[in-house]
Amino acid sequence: MNRRADKSSEITFSTSTTGRRHAVVLGGSLAGLLAARVLSDHFDRVTVVERDSFPATASPRRGVPQANHVHALLPRGRLILEQLFPGLQPEMMAAGAPLLVMGKDLAWLTPQGWGVRFKSDLEVLTFTRPLLDLHVRRHLIADARVRVMENTEIVRLLAGKQPERIAGALVRVHGENSDKVVELQLTADLVVDATGRASRAPRWLEELGYTAPKETIINAHLGYASRLYRIPDDFSADWKCAFVQAAPPKRKRGGILFTVEGDRWLVTLIGGGRDYPPTDDAAFLEFARSLRSPIIYDAIRRAEPLSPIRGYRGTENRLRHFEEAIHQPENFIALGDSVCAFNPVYGQGMTIAAMGAMALDECLHKQKGAPETFARQFHERLAKVNAAPWMLATSEDYRYRETEGGSPTLATRFMHRYMNHVLRLSTFDASVRRVLLEVFSMLIEPSALFRPRIAVRVLGNTLGFVRPPKSAARRASSNTLAYDAASND
Ligand SMILES: Cc1cc2nc3c(=O)[nH]c(=O)nc-3n(C[C@H](O)[C@H](O)[C@H](O)COP(=O)(O)OP(=O)(O)OC[C@H]3O[C@@H](n4cnc5c(N)ncnc54)[C@H](O)[C@@H]3O)c2cc1C
Repeated sequence: MNRRADKSSEITFSTSTTGRRHAVVLGGSLAGLLAARVLSDHFDRVTVVERDSFPATASPRRGVPQANHVHALLPRGRLILEQLFPGLQPEMMAAGAPLLVMGKDLAWLTPQGWGVRFKSDLEVLTFTRPLLDLHVRRHLIADARVRVMENTEIVRLLAGKQPERIAGALVRVHGENSDKVVELQLTADLVVDATGRASRAPRWLEELGYTAPKETIINAHLGYASRLYRIPDDFSADWKCAFVQAAPPKRKRGGILFTVEGDRWLVTLIGGGRDYPPTDDAAFLEFARSLRSPIIYDAIRRAEPLSPIRGYRGTENRLRHFEEAIHQPENFIALGDSVCAFNPVYGQGMTIAAMGAMALDECLHKQKGAPETFARQFHERLAKVNAAPWMLATSEDYRYRETEGGSPTLATRFMHRYMNHVLRLSTFDASVRRVLLEVFSMLIEPSALFRPRIAVRVLGNTLGFVRPPKSAARRASSNTLAYDAASND
């Protein structure tokens, strides 16, 4: 997929104040690719600019270092991706990505005990992140309106003739096998920043005299370390993925074992509050053994490693409030991690990128006249998409004493207590567990956890009226794998 840039110093697509001739997307990871897909329905041409060259196979690349770690695509995200790229899911399954039934195939140790297993229709596709990116890219470049510029770095934004609009972006194209560098001015009717957490968009905007968005950072200092394993031939269990959650403030370690394409496991160990997981062989296993359950350690201790252990620490929650910035160009927007990046442990980032792309689609459909308010309208809409996942991630992060960036409010403390009860109920009550998983999957709003049916049970649990069946109580308090597949649906 090497679409080389023109060698001239300026690529000008005729633009107009209300026109939709050319859109430029900065960054070719998931948020950028999804934005490009949506924009191709509204613009004559879409150009995606990416610093890396894209691998021809499902392998990680420099610009997305997090791709070495478990990437869960929540059911809501999976549905949106299938809507944007029909056929994506069967293709990924044909490439070996397993489709799991969340309530049944996932062994999940919550801070309050093992989540009860139940029959459900909630499905989750599991894969390595590079496999997803490869398939999404293949779909996207099949669209003749989309062109991808690889090995191309964004340098800055270009000032427009009118103060309320930018003209496009200045980019630097690196020749693949030579030192030759060419600078190009890409003019555009709309510029979309999707360059991720480390986006320099705030600086680019300030350089042109616009207001940089305010930033909120809440950091629980989580570290990840991950490794691929071959699934042993004789391995057998009644689960396909295991998630051992940390239980801060005391138990700061967690881990995820994901069955992925190629009959492999991708194992990610996680430590919060600066208790970072190590990246050498023996210490990695020891860390796995120290989790609240040995389920992952028991699975991997004799399994054959297929990759080095790779670490990662850039996991802070970071929200850029574009919707509040006073002076912004009307034809510049940002989405994905560039606007809202989460502590990844809740698996929200890709789904939020997908929801952001859908919000962009809606705003472009609705936009009639008044283009001068487009950026604000979109950022306000996106802020609504981000609000609930941001609240979930940050309020849970305040359970770590080491978390920096504000302190828990009374409402947060109430949420912690309430959620403790919900999690406790979800260890034996399949109907509560179902609602919890649907909220977690972003299929329904978090407010569903406060519906009378659940609130009454929480109250009963608080007052000691709701007692788990004996088997469930044993299972919930066990720190070993002692659950039987409950089918109490
Ligand atoms: C450790 C970890 C685990 C995660 N696990 C999950 C998970 O389980 N589930 C989930 O949904 N999400 C997860 N996420 C989040 C997920 O990775 C992101 O939300 C997702 O990649 C979308 O991000 P993005 O496209 O906005 O930015 P990124 O993925 O960061 O991509 C930014 C792109 O911009 C390019 N770029 C940057 N600067 C420039 C420049 N100047 N010029 C040209 N190109 C540039 C980069 O090369 C890159 O391709 C995880 C994140 C981390 C850190």
